[in-house]
Amino acid sequence: RFITLEGGEGVGKTTNLNWLCEQLTTAGIPFIRTREPGGTPLAEAIRGLLLNRGDETPADITELLLMFAARAQHLARVIQPALNAGQWVVCDRFTDATYAYQGGGRGQDQQVIEQLESLVQQGLEPDLTLLLDMPVELASQRVDQRGQQRDRFEQEQQAFFQRVRDAYLQRALEHPLRFRVVDASLALPQVQAQLTEYLQPLLSE
Ligand code: C5P
Ligand code: MG
Repeated sequence: RFITLEGGEGVGKTTNLNWLCEQLTTAGIPFIRTREPGGTPLAEAIRGLLLNRGDETPADITELLLMFAARAQHLARVIQPALNAGQWVVCDRFTDATYAYQGGGRGQDQQVIEQLESLVQQGLEPDLTLLLDMPVELASQRVDQRGQQRDRFEQEQQAFFQRVRDAYLQRALEHPLRFRVVDASLALPQVQAQLTEYLQPLLSE
């Protein structure tokens, strides 16, 4: 089983991912937790290149290719081996984030992303994608409350995050079988009740 968690900045991805992993542990399911961009030493190095504000800002196409380079390594070294060994894989962001950020946010051509996706993934898709969704104004307040320095993406303007959110919701509409949209603006127990509901079918199989 391959589960991905998606959402914009400040929607509570980390908190809910921690909680979700606790549920899997309690249920006795063997799983690994990983993240994108990253998940292997090489892919984490690419993540560093992408998130830090260096001397040179990557061109949009460079950013897109680096995302897929990191993903190719992550799939080859971590995700595929785990799935082949019968483990579940819980991943903090995956290709839907590329459609949302590089596609919606940066305006990269969706067909180009689709081509890279089929080249790199050879048809592999998550079984379940949980999208934590909330209005961008609320999410942005939460990022501020966190008090950490914002990374290169987190410094984008509101309009960028609105496009990211719209693109995520569009992805959910286009892939209704694997996507579940969670209203992340609710209180935590209610968010977790939604997650439990969406996870239940996989747990009882
Ligand atoms: O998930 P996390 O917030 O740690 O991801 C780090 C950053 O990478 C995010 O702020 C997100 O904006 C960015 N990102 C991206 N495109 C992706 C995946 C992540 O722009 N495909
Ligand atoms: Mg972030």
